[in-house]
Amino acid sequence: MTTELFSLAGRTALITGSSRGLGNAIAGGYAAAGAAVIINGTDPARVAAAAQALRGKGHVVHEAPFDVTDEAAVCAAFARLDAEGIAVDILVNNAGIQLRKPLVELSVAEWKRVIDTNLTSAFLIGREAARRMIKRGKGGKIINIGSLMSDVARATVAPYTAAKGGIKMLTRSMAAEWAEHDIQANAIGPGYMATEMNKALIENPAFDAWVKGRTPSRRWGRPEELVGAAIFLASAASGYVNGQIIYVDGGMLAVL
Ligand code: NDP
Repeated sequence: MTTELFSLAGRTALITGSSRGLGNAIAGGYAAAGAAVIINGTDPARVAAAAQALRGKGHVVHEAPFDVTDEAAVCAAFARLDAEGIAVDILVNNAGIQLRKPLVELSVAEWKRVIDTNLTSAFLIGREAARRMIKRGKGGKIINIGSLMSDVARATVAPYTAAKGGIKMLTRSMAAEWAEHDIQANAIGPGYMATEMNKALIENPAFDAWVKGRTPSRRWGRPEELVGAAIFLASAASGYVNGQIIYVDGGMLAVL
C-alpha cells in the first residue's frame, strides 16, 4: 500500500536542468521510484552523460537538450516527444541560474536573463506540458522549484528573489486553472544545498559559517534530500495537495 502510493511506475517525468545538481538528484530518485525520465540541460554532451549514468542503473531514460528560455526550442522538444509517443505525466521545472550583484549595478539584460531562466521558463514549459495533460485527460503533476527566496529576500540577489517569489504565485495560478483537470501543481523550496551553483559560497569560510549558524540542522542540504518531497508531489500520495510550497531547508525559514 505505502509503496504503491508513492510509486511512479508507468509514469514519464521531464525534469528541466537535470544534467547535474538538484535536478539530477530528482531524476535519479524518480527513476528509482519506477518512472521513465527525460533529462534536460543546455549542453547535449552533459545531458547524454547524465542519461547514460542512469541507463547504467537499468532505468529508462530519454534525452531532451534544450534551452528553457527559448520558446521555439521548447515547442520543438515537445513536438519531438509527441512524435515519439512520449507523454509527460510529471514535469519538474527545476532549471535555474543565480547572479549576484547589487540592484543599483544591475542591467536590464541581467535582470531579464534571470527572470527568463528561473520564472518565464516555468510558465512556458508548464504551458506546453499542461496543454497536453489536459488533452489526454489523465491528469498530471507539475513541481516548480522555488527557493527560500520564494518567501524571504537577501541582498545582491534581487532578480533571483523576484523570480522565485513569482514561482510561488505561478504555482498557485497553475493550481487555480488546472486542478479541475486532475493536475496537481506544487512547489519545493530548497534551502542552502551543496551543488555547483553554490560552489563559491561553500568555499567561502564566512558564508559557510553563516549557513551553518543560521540553519537549525547546522549543515548544508544534500541534493538527494529533495527526493522525498519530489516523489511525494509526483505521486498518488499528493492527489489532493495543490498550490503548495514545501520548504526542504533544514528548518532555516522557520527560525530567526
Ligand atoms: P546547478 O547550477 O547545479 O544546475 C543547474 C541545471 O540547470 C543544470 O543542469 C543546467 O544545465 C540547467 N540549466 C541552466 N540554465 C538552463 C537553461 N537555460 N536551459 C536548460 N537548462 C538550464 O543548479 P542547482 O541544482 O543548484 O539548482 C537547481 C534549481 O534549484 C534552480 O532552480 C535553483 O534556483 C534551485 N535552488 C537551488 C538551491 C541550492 O542551494 N543549490 C537552493 C534553492 C533553490 P547546463 O549545465 O546544460 O546549463
